[in-house]
Amino acid sequence: MIKTDYYEILGVSRNASSDEIKKSYRQMALKFHPDRNPGNKEAEEKFKETAEAYSVLADPEKRSVYDRLGHDGLRGEGFSGFTGFNSSIFEDFEDILGNFFNFGFGDLFGTRQRARSHYPQRGRDLALEYQVTLEESAFGADKEFKLNRVEFCSVCHGSKMKPGTQKSVCRTCQGRGQVRYQQGFFVVSRTCSSCRGTGEIIDSPCMECKGSGKVREKRKLTINIPAGVDDGTKLRVEGEGEAGDQGTPRGDLYVIICLKKHDFFEREGNDLYCEIQIPFTHAALGTTVEIPTLDGKEPLEISAATQPGEVFRLKGSGIKGLHSHRKGDLFVKINVETPKKLTKEQKVLLQEFARSRGEDAEPQIQKSKKKGKNIFH
Ligand SMILES: [Zn+2]
Ligand SMILES: [Zn+2]
Repeated sequence: MIKTDYYEILGVSRNASSDEIKKSYRQMALKFHPDRNPGNKEAEEKFKETAEAYSVLADPEKRSVYDRLGHDGLRGEGFSGFTGFNSSIFEDFEDILGNFFNFGFGDLFGTRQRARSHYPQRGRDLALEYQVTLEESAFGADKEFKLNRVEFCSVCHGSKMKPGTQKSVCRTCQGRGQVRYQQGFFVVSRTCSSCRGTGEIIDSPCMECKGSGKVREKRKLTINIPAGVDDGTKLRVEGEGEAGDQGTPRGDLYVIICLKKHDFFEREGNDLYCEIQIPFTHAALGTTVEIPTLDGKEPLEISAATQPGEVFRLKGSGIKGLHSHRKGDLFVKINVETPKKLTKEQKVLLQEFARSRGEDAEPQIQKSKKKGKNIFH
């Protein structure tokens, strides 16, 4: 029998990307799926053909052999013809087709695949947002959390059974977890609904948890917030998520840091920003100001002739980040204060000062040079 070209089967060009191949396969698989075409032999053949084509073209190694040597290539060097599918391709099929069909690919192609529901599930991960102050983010803190999470039932310890009782083999599926039946050409298998695929039946469920093995409980726990966390930092606390099925690891807890606004500092990365006000005389003559930092005070020398809005830097007075080796800096923006109330004497002094600088002692209000807008009126 002459085989049709795999690219032709999937209706894609020879240089199609793997995404294009996947997309096209998905469309065709949904179109020709036996569940949608009951009793249609042609659709069945098409469905198998597309799956075969996809299994080759989705595998880069097989695809390159096929590109070079065609169907014959897959028969040579290690590829003894088309022998079926490996199990990973089934998972791929399931991912592609999602849960559209309750359909066992393994049965369709004669390769038995374990139903997913057989696998015990590990506990779910939990995530919570936690607000910390700037100080806590800089120096770390031990924080107490209250969590509402799934725990093993304290009576059956997750076994779901009444203590002292045993499980029995599911009579519906004889312990296989799957029920098979004929549907046209195919032998189709579904997860056994009596035992939900476990193959076992609990005759006497635990009364405490109603046979679920788990209960929802409030728990208190203390978590160390390490120094250097920032807004949005995600901390993973292993094993503090929810309990899963018996014998599986617990989920993890993710704490997402949310930084509270600080009255004085703003943080950007590991640097801090703040603003201070100084009298215009200090700005003109220069001065030293004690700047509050996160861990005390730091003298900042403000040079003479400092202009409003000028920014000074205190090196190393910022924050040491979670993964950084050195501390960030503190940037201080200088706001220059004009005196609001002047005594008669002060006014005279200032007028004198102005005169000595050749500035008009009785200054006129200057009109804005901007057209159409006078900001002084
Ligand atoms: Zn229980
Ligand atoms: Zn069963």
